[in-house]
Parts: sequence; C-alpha cells; structure tokens
Amino acid sequence: MININDIKSGNRRALAKAITLVESKLDNHREQAQDLLNELLPATGKSIRIGITGIPGVGKSTFIEAFGLHLIAQGKKVAVLAVDPSSPLRGGSILGDKTRMELLSREQNAYIRPSPSEGALGGVAQKTRETMLLCEAAGFDVILVETIGVGQSEYEVAAMVDFFLVLMLPNAGDELQGIKRGIMELADALVINKADGESINLAKQTQQHYKNALHLLTSDSFWQPQVKACSAIEKSGIHDVWGMISEFEHQAKSNGFFEHNRAKQTQDWLDKLIQEMLTLKLKQNPKVNAQLPQLQQDVLNKQTTPYNAAQQIIKLL
Ligand code: GDP
Repeated sequence: MININDIKSGNRRALAKAITLVESKLDNHREQAQDLLNELLPATGKSIRIGITGIPGVGKSTFIEAFGLHLIAQGKKVAVLAVDPSSPLRGGSILGDKTRMELLSREQNAYIRPSPSEGALGGVAQKTRETMLLCEAAGFDVILVETIGVGQSEYEVAAMVDFFLVLMLPNAGDELQGIKRGIMELADALVINKADGESINLAKQTQQHYKNALHLLTSDSFWQPQVKACSAIEKSGIHDVWGMISEFEHQAKSNGFFEHNRAKQTQDWLDKLIQEMLTLKLKQNPKVNAQLPQLQQDVLNKQTTPYNAAQQIIKLL
C-alpha cells in the first residue's frame, strides 16, 4: 500500500510507485490509483505547469536540463513529464528520458518521468495529467511537460498547462521549422534556441521574423505571445525565459485568467472522459452489438435515416 503522507512529504519511492499505479493497465490498479488521487486532490494544483514542444533536434532536453537546473538553483522543485505519442510505435519513449538529462536527473529536487507508453481511456495525455497531480501533491512547484510536434500531442499538452512554450531553430521561415499553423496560435512564447556561435545573428533575425509574424495574429488575451532567444548549451537567455514565465504567472493570477483557465481545462478534461466512457459503454453493450449491423444495413439501403438509426442505438443503452 502507498502511504498518502509519504507522497505528500515528497518521498520519491512512494511517488514512483503511485505513478506506476496510474500508468498500469490493470483494472484494480486503476481503482487504487483513483482512490489515491481522490485523497491527494486537495494537495494538488499549486505548481506552475509549463508545456514545451519543438521538433526533434531543436534542443528540448538540453533546454529542459539548463532550465531545470536554473530553477533548482532558485530553490524550486522541478518535475519533468512527457507526452510522446510515438512511443507505442517505437516500443519505447524518447522524451523525458533520464539519460538525456543526466545532470538534472541527479538532482534531489528534480524528478524526471518518461512518457507512459500507452494509455487506455483518455490516452497517454490522461496518464500524464494524473502524474502531474501526483507530482504536485509531492511538492513539485514547477512541472515541465515535454512533447514533440507529432499528431495531436501539442494540442493535448497545451490543454493541460498554464504556459505553452515552443522551441525553434535559428532559421527564418515556418516551413523549415516543421511547425504547424495552429501551434503558433497555442504558443505563449516562441524561444529560438541555439542562439550561439555563428548562429547568433541568424537567431536574432529569426526572433524578429517571429515577432512580426505574431504581431499579425490578433489576440483577445491579456497576454501577447513573446519571442525570446537563448542558448541551452551556453545557458544564456535561460534566466530571461523564466523571468517571462514568472511575469505571465503574476499577471494571470492577478487578473483571474489563471484560475479561469485551469477551471476550463478541468471541465474539458471531464467532458472528454465522459464522452470516451460513453463510447466505450456503447461498444461493449451486447444489445448494441447485436442490432448495429442490421441498422447499418438499413441506413445503407435507405430504409431508415442515420438519425433514426442513431436514436434506436441510444435507446438500447
Ligand atoms: P531534442 O531532440 O529536441 O531533445 O534536442 P537535444 O536536446 O537532444 O539537442 C539536439 C542537438 O542540439 C544536440 O546535439 C545538442 O547538443 C544540440 N543543442 C542543444 N541545444 C543547443 C544550443 O543551445 N546550442 C547549440 N549550438 N547546440 C545545441
């Protein structure tokens, strides 16, 4: 059994065990995990949650290591989690990997957890959300959620964090960055990494290019997305990035956005789970399974409308 107080006092073994329960596919583990989360809920939510995305090679792990060490030097406790949609395909996760952040992983005040390999209801992102809550209950005050720009993962991460940061390379032009249009609109900040050596000038040009581009996006939010440059290797500009996020947090908390956004995210998460559970219930219902093929045929043969067929299915529930 996992002791609630062990988690709350920041015991790493207890935290690791709890995360393993959350990630388990077994029904009884799932139930235990939910009981644990229920008890811990009052102790959650006190961190700042930061999403970090960018194409492979942009420097995510190097940046997270430098950023994490910077935060730890300021007395913070930092958890690094990952949403890696490709991990089931590759048979292993490439994000949030300890071997990629060796210095950070040796820190007592850092906790690094790779992406869960798969998730049942709600997918991988659901497990990461629950892991985030456990880390918060264990006293981590900054949660970094890493993802790569594949599939829906950036949207899923943006929907679970307070601040969403996109790392970019010093090359002007979106095409080269492999950045999808919508992502720019999710970003609270673009950070041009590798602004060092011969790339410094290019990084400055890229920074200006994106400042102009973002200026064209109309935003009704209190926050105008910022464009920064840094070098994760030389550890320059890292302090500035944290300063920006602290400023965001300060403003968002004083104008009510922070609380409002969290509440909306939780509401959306609940809605999504209800929909997924309903769909599952439908698929597992024997009466539905018995009648659905015939109804599908009837629709195809124009003997009934899709609307009527759907109604008949719902009545079976
Ligand atoms: P990830 O795939 O996004 O996690 O990227 P990595 O952190 O693994 O970095 C990819 C490569 O870029 C590695 O060879 C890093 O050493 C290098 N790199 C990362 N950050 C910087 C930086 O700030 N400047 C330079 N010059 N290289 C960097």
